[in-house]
Amino acid sequence: DQRIAKISSAIRVIPDFPKPGIMFQDITTLLLDTKAFKDTIDLFVERYRDQNISVVAGIEARGFIFGPPIALAIGAKFVPMRKPKKLPGEVISEEYSLEYGTDKIEMHVGAVQAGERALIIDDLIATGGTLCAAIKLLERVGVNVVECACVIELPELKGRERLGDKSLFILVEAE
Ligand code: 5GP
Repeated sequence: DQRIAKISSAIRVIPDFPKPGIMFQDITTLLLDTKAFKDTIDLFVERYRDQNISVVAGIEARGFIFGPPIALAIGAKFVPMRKPKKLPGEVISEEYSLEYGTDKIEMHVGAVQAGERALIIDDLIATGGTLCAAIKLLERVGVNVVECACVIELPELKGRERLGDKSLFILVEAE
């Protein structure tokens, strides 16, 4: 697809952010390119529009940028999966391990119902820890996670393997 190359070149890479040695994939430049941003959303919508998906779950923070336009276009609701202590209502949470320590994501109780079909969206998969926690959280309440989708994959970190048999759809591979 010719749109992919344009999307890839609209993503800026910033070396040594947030720490030395990290090549940060900056999607804010993709958002400035109206054609590439629209193509990004369209590619996801084309893939998911006929899959009976009732929930798009977006992961804080950049899953909140790509998730809602996809949800609106496919007629699904949008559910934010947030960092701890951000959601005001009753939450369920899932802890996951980081390089040093642990982190958590949370979702409002009652936002989704058992038996619903969900798509999980984030901007990027690195180690896969975040997506893995999101899958577990949704599956704990009986939701069927159809697929995870990200704009960017860092294949060297093998996050895809951590997702087990859950399928992952990405637009761009970065080194
Ligand atoms: P993982 O849990 O797969 O190791 O890390 C993925 C999470 O970290 C995503 O929520 C993603 O937004 C963030 N992340 C890690 N590295 C980058 C990066 O280089 N660019 C962007 N935009 N996000 C990153």
